[in-house]
Amino acid sequence: MLRTGLVIDPRYQEHHAGAGHPERAARIEILLAVLDEFRRPEIERLDPRPATVEEIALVHDRAHIARVDATAKRSFFAFDPDTWVSSRSAATARLATGGLLTLVDAIMAGEVNNGFALVRPPGHHAEFDRALGFCLFNNVAIAARYLREKHRLARVLIFDWDVHHGNGTQHSFAADPTVLYVSFHQYPFYPGTGAVGEVGDGPGEGYTVNLPLPAGSGDQEYRHLFAQVVDPICRQFDPEFVLISAGFDAHLRDPIGSMRLTADSFGWFTRMLLRLAADCAQGRCAAVLEGGYDLEALGRSVLRVLDDMAGTQLAEPLPALGAPPDLLPRVQAVQRRYWELP
Ligand code: ZN
Repeated sequence: MLRTGLVIDPRYQEHHAGAGHPERAARIEILLAVLDEFRRPEIERLDPRPATVEEIALVHDRAHIARVDATAKRSFFAFDPDTWVSSRSAATARLATGGLLTLVDAIMAGEVNNGFALVRPPGHHAEFDRALGFCLFNNVAIAARYLREKHRLARVLIFDWDVHHGNGTQHSFAADPTVLYVSFHQYPFYPGTGAVGEVGDGPGEGYTVNLPLPAGSGDQEYRHLFAQVVDPICRQFDPEFVLISAGFDAHLRDPIGSMRLTADSFGWFTRMLLRLAADCAQGRCAAVLEGGYDLEALGRSVLRVLDDMAGTQLAEPLPALGAPPDLLPRVQAVQRRYWELP
């Protein structure tokens, strides 16, 4: 039986991004409510700890950490027009990063096999020296570097299915061949990065894989690209740990994204990534919440991912795929320049 760690805490509701902001405390409130009714013996709750300055500094400039910490003295502060914080935001952001590190440590200790950290604020837009796009600290990037430095893993995969490109994550590892960053995202779209030609720099060339998709893409397009491009690249990379930047704003109900994914596809991605983790990484796989702003879609999608993580559908065969979308040959051609795909 697979055991699945779950990090969620009422304190993740304490960050306030301003009235009417889509990245709101209700996202955690709805998840606490649906998870209260969803109990499986395989799922084990883990209590999050706050991340230390040293851990956050694995990715971020110490001056940026100090700027975030300084906002604890203010009732409201805006890092940019989208990224507002309240007096409890700095502490909540520390607990968000620490929640993912708690999960990663539990997986590395063999206490659980895999898991999901349902935290906020999200992280993948946060850059080395600045908050951006609702994000203060880059939770997934910090976890990848923590796995490299503290747990001494050689290779870590970050797969990002949020509807937005994870600019901060990409930039953190652009020149680093030990962390493979693979992203599906709506394009062109916020934050503007993530073109197919952005493949990494210097020794990291080929270790950034962007799969930009036009608005309106859905289950079929995503699954094709995953099976044809993402899966072989990730298997060639042979990661020792699989991290997932799990945003649910590519769901067809989402008010910000314009994609058409159903909750089933998030379960499907999870099963594909768990199979990859089982083959390459001793099953080690941790997801962290990024975006996802329709509460019903968020709740349903998170339950699908957790249900699949807890193992019931791991052995399910791949569903039949229809005709490939037009984008596929173009993306494959670009990726072939960097990877020896069949
Ligand atoms: Zn997003």
